[in-house]
Amino acid sequence: MVIAIVEHGGTQALLALFNEKGEIIKQCVLDLPNINRGWSVNDNLPEKTIEIIYNKLNELCKNFKINGIDALGYSGPGPVTKEGTLIRAPNVWGNAFNNIQYLKLLEEKFNLHGKVVLENDMTAAAAGFMRFAPKKFKERKNFCIITVSTGIGSKCVNNGKIIFGKDGLAGEIGHIPILNNDEIIPGYQCGCGKIHCLEAGSSGNANAHRCFWEAKQSLKQDTFIESSEIINKILQISTLKGATYSNNLIEINMLFNEAVHKKDPLSLYVLKKSINPLARAIAIIETQYNVGKFYLIGGFALGMGQIFLDILKNSLLEIGIVDRNINDINNLVELGIKMSGLKGIFVIVKERIFNCNY
Ligand SMILES: [Zn+2]
Repeated sequence: MVIAIVEHGGTQALLALFNEKGEIIKQCVLDLPNINRGWSVNDNLPEKTIEIIYNKLNELCKNFKINGIDALGYSGPGPVTKEGTLIRAPNVWGNAFNNIQYLKLLEEKFNLHGKVVLENDMTAAAAGFMRFAPKKFKERKNFCIITVSTGIGSKCVNNGKIIFGKDGLAGEIGHIPILNNDEIIPGYQCGCGKIHCLEAGSSGNANAHRCFWEAKQSLKQDTFIESSEIINKILQISTLKGATYSNNLIEINMLFNEAVHKKDPLSLYVLKKSINPLARAIAIIETQYNVGKFYLIGGFALGMGQIFLDILKNSLLEIGIVDRNINDINNLVELGIKMSGLKGIFVIVKERIFNCNY
C-alpha cells in the first residue's frame, strides 16, 4: 500500500509517499502557485495547484516504479469544512479564491473517490503532536496548538479528539477581531482583508511591519535613542510591499530576532506589543474551551524562543484569567517543537479511510 501525502504550507509545500507502516518511501518539494511568488489571481490557482501535484506524483511513481497510490492525504493552507470545502487560502492564493470544493477536485483529478482526506494544516499539526511529539511534552489529550509564523493558526484538542465545530473553524484564533485600535499597524491588514484580526497584529509578518513602523516613529519622535543601530538597519530595508510574504519581512525579522536577544529596548517594546493581543486570544480560548495547555510552534515563536514565552506569560499574568491562579497561568503556555505535518495527515488517512487507529 502506498499513501501520498501533501503538506501545502504558506512558505513550503511537500509531497511524500508513505508505506503502510508509516515510513516515508520518497519525498520531494513542490513548487506550487503562490501570489507572493509571481503568480496571478487570473490563473485558476486551485486547479493549477492540483495539476502540478498530479504531474509530480506521476513522475515520482514512474521514476521509482510505484504502481499508483491507494489514498491521498492533503494538509491545506486554510480552513476546511467537513464536506471538504476549502474556505479560503489567502496566504497562497490571495483573496480571489473562496469556498473551493477542493476535496471533490482532488478526488476527480486523482480518480480516488472516497480515498482522499483534506484537512487544515493545524489539524495535521494537532494530530501529529498527539502521537509523535517528544516525550517531554506530557499533555497530549487536552491542549491547543498555536503556530505563530507568516500567519497564525491554531487547533484545540479535547480528551484526545480534535475540536472541529460546524464548519471546521472551532478554536481558530488567527482571525479573532481582537486588536485594539492602538495595536493596528497603519497601512497593514490581515490576509483575510480585515484589520482587527489577531494575525494582523501578532503574526511574524505583522511583527516585521510593526517593527518597521515603530522604527520610523522613533526616528521622528526621537525616542528609543539607544536603539538607533537597529532602527537604521531596519529603515534601510525600505522597500516593503504591503501585507505580503517577502524577503524583506524575513530580513527584518532576522535583524529583529538578533536585537531581541541582545535585549534592545525598541525590539522588546515591539515584541510585547505584538504578543499582548495573542495573550488575550489565549485567555479567550482558555475561558471557552478550558484546554489547560497551549503549545506554541511556528518559525517566529520558536525563533524568539524563551523570550517570546516569558513575554507571553507576563502578558497573561497582567490580564489574568478568571479562576486560574499564577501557577495555572505559568504552566498554561509552553514552547512546542518544529514538526512536519506529513505524519499527522498520514495518521488521519489511516484512521478515516482504513479504520486503523494509532
Ligand atoms: Zn484575518
